[in-house]
Amino acid sequence: MKAWDVFNQVRGRVKDETGVLGGTGSLKAALCCPSPYSVGMSSLGFQTIYREMNLHPGASAERAFLPDQPEEYRKRRLPVFTYEGETPLGEFPVVAFSIAYELELAGLLEILDLSNIPVLRSGRTEKHPLIIAGGPLTLSNPAILAPFVDLVILGEGEDLVHTLLDAVRETGRRELLSCFSRAPGFFVPGLSSSLLSISRVSPDRLPAYSQILTRKAVWANMFLIEPERGCSHACAYCVMRRAPDGGMRLVPAQKVLSLIPEHTPRVGLVGAAVTDHPEVEELAGKIVSGGRRIGISSLRAERLNENLLRILVRGGYRTLTTALDGFSGRLRARLGRKTTEQHLIRAAEMVRSTGMQRLKLYQMIGVPGETMEDIDEGIRFSLELGRIAPLSLSIAPFVAKRNTPLDGAPFEAVDSLERKLAAIRSGLKGKVDVRPSSARWAWVEYMLSQGGEDAGLAAMEAWKNGGGFAAWKKAFNVPTF
Ligand code: SF4
Repeated sequence: MKAWDVFNQVRGRVKDETGVLGGTGSLKAALCCPSPYSVGMSSLGFQTIYREMNLHPGASAERAFLPDQPEEYRKRRLPVFTYEGETPLGEFPVVAFSIAYELELAGLLEILDLSNIPVLRSGRTEKHPLIIAGGPLTLSNPAILAPFVDLVILGEGEDLVHTLLDAVRETGRRELLSCFSRAPGFFVPGLSSSLLSISRVSPDRLPAYSQILTRKAVWANMFLIEPERGCSHACAYCVMRRAPDGGMRLVPAQKVLSLIPEHTPRVGLVGAAVTDHPEVEELAGKIVSGGRRIGISSLRAERLNENLLRILVRGGYRTLTTALDGFSGRLRARLGRKTTEQHLIRAAEMVRSTGMQRLKLYQMIGVPGETMEDIDEGIRFSLELGRIAPLSLSIAPFVAKRNTPLDGAPFEAVDSLERKLAAIRSGLKGKVDVRPSSARWAWVEYMLSQGGEDAGLAAMEAWKNGGGFAAWKKAFNVPTF
């Protein structure tokens, strides 16, 4: 790949986009996704913050992404540059990162390094951009960002990004950091004495919705919109669990519908608990009535009914995806997960009666207190479900998150998880499609979820040493499992 090919790739992507903004403000900011383009452009949070930054009357924001092939940039000494203005990140006064989860930390380091910006906060001066981070990771463990970023927006950033851009325009960096170190919703590494409160967006900024559509996103040309934010349930392992104020904020169906562009062929309803929205059937019905296709996240089995599923089928939805998140009733009760076997049996029957093709079920293993009896119960039940409708099990190891009741719970040994996975595969062989995610990478996620600044520094060591699993083990000083 030549340098020219890199520019052509970026230009080709921009040409394929609709909805690109060009803010008019004099403060230039870069908004970076520490994952590749196709992932970033499917992130509603990334797209929403991009719009908010461009709506600020004094600012304009351009996007950058983790290059698909960072080694090509390194070989050619190409800095990461923005898609809109092809400007290297090092030339912006403000560079913001939207970080979804722990493993994206390596992408942040890679982007800074390729841009010739020192990755360590302590190695930078006022000549370097102000490095800001926000996004879903900040709901659980922003501490791992502390060695690398100058400031973190904690929680929902749509309002606070405006406050921050105002301050950058009006104040010097030192004063700004000192002021925000005591402000709710912000965390200034090295200055804030604790992680203060998580911010919540004001209701008039909801719903979040797509700004740019492209065929080259993971959800190709799909207009994403969030009819509700948060969740009113209280599963003990989930960072989205009920907030003190009740958790879930609803957007009226009429408002959601009014924001969907007339000629959009595909609409995705996104949120932590979309099927808890009291108007979800009306909303989905009106979306598909114009011949549009529909996607929907977070279907909760206990909220499903045949009418909703028939609407989804009319909108091209073929795999009913939901979660059980515990291999036995005993474990689910312990986790506060209210979904029961009966709910799933009904869901599988509806897959069959509505002409859907498959039921896909998210499951966790390695939940604290789990035994082989729990696994056997899950195998028995999966076989039962698989006799009703074709079934896929997507299995991920349990990773304890900060700010949840299970914070601090241990990670099950990788070999023990692998033994359980082998038993599940063998018990379901030929009957149920089993798709496990890697126990090893879940362990890395766990180390970052539970660690502080030291875990962030270990991540830097692992990234410097190639970012393979052996590098992570060495960085965390764990010779064997
Ligand atoms: S797992 Fe789902 S239902 Fe439970 S708290 Fe999280 S978002 Fe809500």
